[in-house]
Amino acid sequence: MCGIVGYVGPQRAQDVVVEGLRRLEYRGYDSAGIALVDGERLWTAKRAGKLANLREALTETPLPESGTGIGHTRWATHGPANDVNAHPHTDGKGIVAVVHNGIIDNAAALRAELADAGVDLASDTDTEVLAHLVAASGAATLEEKVAEVLARIEGTYGVAFLHADFPDRMVVARNGSPLIIGVGDKEMHVASDLAALVRYTTTVAHLDD
Ligand code: GLU
Repeated sequence: MCGIVGYVGPQRAQDVVVEGLRRLEYRGYDSAGIALVDGERLWTAKRAGKLANLREALTETPLPESGTGIGHTRWATHGPANDVNAHPHTDGKGIVAVVHNGIIDNAAALRAELADAGVDLASDTDTEVLAHLVAASGAATLEEKVAEVLARIEGTYGVAFLHADFPDRMVVARNGSPLIIGVGDKEMHVASDLAALVRYTTTVAHLDD
């Protein structure tokens, strides 16, 4: 179980998220990634190996300005450490991005169900099913879409979702894997570990399952 960071607010989300990931490096990890959402679409960058590799990718191909972003440092449980298996994971159309700590026990059944429905799964991870299922949900709000999908998930999770149609929003949830919400000045943070938040706020709420 490794690291989650998320931010919604007036600052550059990329800077806040990458700084949060830097503060989670002490936990160990095998890959790192980030997703941002702006008024147009989702943007992702992810790399196997150290956070320095992700920073290099972001320097080579900068992501646009955005105030809404999520990031992850992965400790692989399903599939080797490589760029594709790194989080965030997205659906085929790039509408939904998700970062996940933990293990989805019924991932094999959900992957088979998606494959039967004609969905191409890009990674070996248990996590990717979450992006496809939320993208396919007909519920009206992102909260409802996520709640509908999580009702089908067996296992442990800390999760943070972005959706291209809801660019000022991040939805998070947990079950058996820690998540902490940080409240700043007209901004909200989320992290799986207090270390990622302390620089920005001391007003925090530890979520229950
Ligand atoms: N089970 C997920 C994966 O293998 C998440 C691992 C983690 O907690 O970092 O990609």
